[in-house]
Amino acid sequence: MKIDKLKNQIPKNITVVAVSKRKSNKEILEVYNTNHKDFGENRVQELIVKNNDLPNDIRWHMIGKLQRNKVKFIAPFIHLIHSVDSYKLLLEIEKQAKKNQRVINILLQIKISNDESKSGLSFDETQNILNNHEQINIKIIGLMGMGSLDMNKNENEFIEISNFYQKSKDRFNFKYLSLGMSGDYNLAIENNSNMIRVGSLIFGERN
Ligand SMILES: *Cc1c(COP(=O)(O)O)cnc(C)c1O
Repeated sequence: MKIDKLKNQIPKNITVVAVSKRKSNKEILEVYNTNHKDFGENRVQELIVKNNDLPNDIRWHMIGKLQRNKVKFIAPFIHLIHSVDSYKLLLEIEKQAKKNQRVINILLQIKISNDESKSGLSFDETQNILNNHEQINIKIIGLMGMGSLDMNKNENEFIEISNFYQKSKDRFNFKYLSLGMSGDYNLAIENNSNMIRVGSLIFGERN
């Protein structure tokens, strides 16, 4: 689907992150040239290369599993890290942000699925970080979740993270609930998502 068509089908306040992993610069530029600036990647190495090669005003979103020893490579330029799935990772991001004299915006990734491949914090761990961590070189601006591959489970998973988001957002000044991909973005939007991460629907299947 063309990205403009997708944007026309959903409410205006929803940010679409075009997930460009494994896609070429040419394919990315086609989307960029529709005046789209938000792109998501899940591998640090690929992200660094694309950040070097592609226009400077792209807002890069890190959406994949992030190893602590690789934070330093993306800290200078990353726009938003969605996949903060441990407190140790959060501390490393803070350290690297400080070195780069910037504040890095992050989302806390909550594990809403029992799939083994999915990582994330529990609701309790998330609450604990929010209550106790004094944010200096990072800003926690919301939450991220990934539904189960078994889509029958997604509705309950989305309701759960949405409830947590709704009850926390004023107190913690959240801006984003990053929830929903090509197969489940409509359901996510029904459950208060305002940031969807869409890859294959925009770019076609990945190899
Ligand atoms: C790949 C990926 C997406 C996009 O998946 P599609 O089904 O291609 O839309 C979204 N979120 C994360 C974390 C991903 O790794």
